[in-house]
Amino acid sequence: MRRGRLTCIVDVVGGLPRTERIYIRDSYARECRSEVLRVVRDRGAKRYLVLDRTVFHPLEGGQPSDRGEIVGERFSLTVKKALSSAGVVAHYGTISGEDPQPGDAVTCRLDWERRYLIMRLHTAGHILDAAVSEVFGGPVNTLGANHGPPEAHVDYAARLPSEDELGRIERIASEIVSDDLQVRVRFVVPEELESSAYNAPNLDRLPEAPVYRLVEIPGRNSIPCTGTHVARTGEVGGVRVLGATPLRGGFRLSYWVTRP
Ligand SMILES: [Zn+2]
Repeated sequence: MRRGRLTCIVDVVGGLPRTERIYIRDSYARECRSEVLRVVRDRGAKRYLVLDRTVFHPLEGGQPSDRGEIVGERFSLTVKKALSSAGVVAHYGTISGEDPQPGDAVTCRLDWERRYLIMRLHTAGHILDAAVSEVFGGPVNTLGANHGPPEAHVDYAARLPSEDELGRIERIASEIVSDDLQVRVRFVVPEELESSAYNAPNLDRLPEAPVYRLVEIPGRNSIPCTGTHVARTGEVGGVRVLGATPLRGGFRLSYWVTRP
């Protein structure tokens, strides 16, 4: 593969099949066995590694990249980030040992502490969507989000809430956590979307797809989302609203999760 100062992700993934993303069906999978499809050398000991399947969630959909390691017989790669392009996930990090070859078997292992925190933060984000929609009288579109460390937020396309409204948002979120509702993940075809997604932001600008993955907090909202979530709202622990700041076209709601 090409070696250069700047490696282009399109070159890394070009011509490869879409990566099987194990977390889509099982967010709790911490480890998997995979096959190496391509290795791309970057500067020094930096490498891009593409596999047939992965447990690593790449940076996308407001969820930060997982970290962890990929270990083979003669090498290990400390994964600093995972990126996605054209449905293919590339793992980027520092290698020690010999470069693996296409066809080699490897084990992917997540930094689980970080991932589990991200799962709690992402579910907390959907809980806040529900709380904000209750306070504003309907679903509010989002402009962006970061459901992960070091600082979690959701950017909403609405006017800045008052202190009183922020207090209500946090109270409603806490109620949803203490109700310990099951977080349901299911798959629907586009024709079923209208009847199965509800109280969800951004439905008016959903990209076309043959199948949608819905994440539902029963009775609160059902949102098209490809991220990783905890199985019950109680696992979030607690949601703390840290504040709201004005943004162009809306406001940023900063939050974090706490242990009960
Ligand atoms: Zn989501």
